[in-house]
Amino acid sequence: GKNGVPVAENFRLEQSTIADTIQAGQVRVRTLYLSVDPYMRCRMNEDTGSDYFLPWQLSEVADGGGIGIVEESKHDNLAKGDFVTSFNWPWQTVAILDGSLLQKLIPQLVNGHLSYFLGAAGITGLTALLGVREKGHVAAGANQTMVVSGAAGACGSLAGQIGRLEGCSRVVGIAGTDEKCSILVQEMGFDAAINYKKGKVAEQLRELCPNGVDVYFDNVGGDISDTVISQMNQNSHIILCGQISQYNKDVPYPPPLPPDTEKIQKERNITRERFLVLNYMDKQEASIVQLCQWIQEGKLKVRETVVEGLANIGAAFQSMMNGGNIGKQIVSVSK
Ligand code: NAP
Repeated sequence: GKNGVPVAENFRLEQSTIADTIQAGQVRVRTLYLSVDPYMRCRMNEDTGSDYFLPWQLSEVADGGGIGIVEESKHDNLAKGDFVTSFNWPWQTVAILDGSLLQKLIPQLVNGHLSYFLGAAGITGLTALLGVREKGHVAAGANQTMVVSGAAGACGSLAGQIGRLEGCSRVVGIAGTDEKCSILVQEMGFDAAINYKKGKVAEQLRELCPNGVDVYFDNVGGDISDTVISQMNQNSHIILCGQISQYNKDVPYPPPLPPDTEKIQKERNITRERFLVLNYMDKQEASIVQLCQWIQEGKLKVRETVVEGLANIGAAFQSMMNGGNIGKQIVSVSK
C-alpha cells in the first residue's frame, strides 16, 4: 500500500529448482552481493512514480542491483570466473541470466572490494557525483557552503565529500545519530554535522553556516528540507536527489513544498529541478573512472554496512528504510 511502512515480513524465502542446462547466450551465476535501496519502496506500489522502475509483482522474485560470479557460460563475451553486475539481479542465490544484460566488472578498479560496484563505484557514487555536477553549480574558489541531508547514507556520505572535492569551501551534514555525525566529521572530512533528532536544526544550521547555504544536496525532504531552504542564499541551488522521509506517504514525486517554503524558493530564485541519475547514463563510464580513481587515491572514503545471508534481505531493507547504519547497505549472499 502507498502509505504502509515496509517490514521484513513483506518478503518470504522460497526454495526452488533451476534448470540443469543453460541456453545459447545465457550464463549461470552465483550471487555474491545484493543492494537494498530506498527506491525499492516505490517498487512496492502499483504505480512506482517513474518509468524506469517496474513494480515488484506479488509472489514473484524481487530484483535490484546485484553482483555475482559466472559459473557456466554460453555467452561469447563471458567466461567462468568473470564477475558481473546488473540493475535487475534477481534475489536468488543462483540464477540463469541473459549474458547480454550483464556488465563485466574489473575488481582491481576498486582494490578488489567488489561490493563497491553497488555503491561508491556504482549507481550510488554516480548519483552523488552527477547530482553535484549537473545540479549543484559548484565552482572552485567561489567559497560555497554545501549542506547534505541524509548525510550518513550511501549517497549523502559521498555527496558531501564530492562537494568538497569539486570546490565547496564548507560542507555540513545532517544525520540521525551522534555516531553517524562523528564519522562524517572524523572520517569523511565534513566540517560539521547536525544530529536532527537532537536539538533545534535551524539554530545549529545558522551557527554552522554563518554565510548561508549555497548548495543543498537533498536526500530526505520534509521538515529538514524546509529548514535548510529557509537559510539558503539568493540564486542558490537544491540538488533534488531524493525525499526518503516522504516515501511511505501517498504524495506525488517530487512532493510540492509547503507554501511558505515555496515562497522563499521563488523569491530567492533557488533552483529545485528533479534529478534522476538514469537520465545521465551517457556520462556513466567517465564518471565511474573518476570515482574509482578517487577511491584508489583515498580521496573518497567509503563505508558500507553488510548483512549476511539472503534470508535477511527483508530485514536489511526494513532497517535501511528506518535509517540503517552508515553508508551503503549491502547483503552478502553466500552459497
Ligand atoms: P540510504 O543509504 O538509506 O540513506 C538514506 C539516509 O536518510 C539514511 O542514512 C537515513 O539515516 C536518512 N533517513 C531515512 N529516513 C529519514 C527521515 N524520515 N528523515 C530524515 N532522514 C532520514 O539511501 P541512499 O541510497 O543514500 O539514498 C538516499 C536518497 O537518494 C534517497 O531518497 C533515494 O531515493 C535517493 N536516490 C536518488 C537517485 C536519483 O537518481 N535521484 C538515485 C539513488 C538514490 P538517518 O535518519 O539516521 O540520518
